[in-house]
Amino acid sequence: MKTTGLLVIMLFAGLSAGISLATAAEEIKVYSVEQGRYVMTEKVDKSAAEWREQLTREEYHILREKGTEPAFTGKYDKHYAKGIYHCAGCGLELFSSADKFDSGTGWPSFTAPVAAENIATKDDSSFFISRTEVLCARCGGHLGHVFNDGPKPTGLRYCMNSASLEFVASK
Ligand code: FE
Repeated sequence: MKTTGLLVIMLFAGLSAGISLATAAEEIKVYSVEQGRYVMTEKVDKSAAEWREQLTREEYHILREKGTEPAFTGKYDKHYAKGIYHCAGCGLELFSSADKFDSGTGWPSFTAPVAAENIATKDDSSFFISRTEVLCARCGGHLGHVFNDGPKPTGLRYCMNSASLEFVASK
C-alpha cells in the first residue's frame, strides 16, 4: 500500500516536471516605461490560428506575414499625441511619442525604440533590396524596417506600420 502511494507520487512528480518543462516559455529582459525599469517577461508564442483569432486581417497580414500598409493610410502617420506605442500583437511597449518625427514617407517614424531590448532586428533581402527588418522582441511580430537616414540624435529612421502598433496616451 505504502509503496503504491509512493509510486503514484513519484509518477505524478515526474509528469508535472515534464509538463512544466514543455510549457516553460523563454524569458527575456525588456524595458518597462510604465515601471521605469527593466523587467523580465515571457516570450509570446502563438499558433497562426490563435493569431488569426486575435488580430484583424490587416494586423495579421502585417505582423505575422510581414506585410506593409500603403503609405499615408495608417492611423499613426500624422499622429503626435503624447504617449507610448505598444505592439498590436502582444502589448509590449515599443516606441515613445518623444522619439517620433515626420519623415514624410507616409509611415509613422521614430529615431529609436523605448529600449534596444524591446525590439529585434533581422537582415531582410526580399524584393531584391537589402533592408533591416524590425520585430517585436516578445512576440516576433513584424513592425517595419530601420534605415540609417534618420535625423539626430541617432541618425536612424524606424519606419513602422501603424497596424503593428497600438497607441496608449500618457496620463
Ligand atoms: Fe509583440
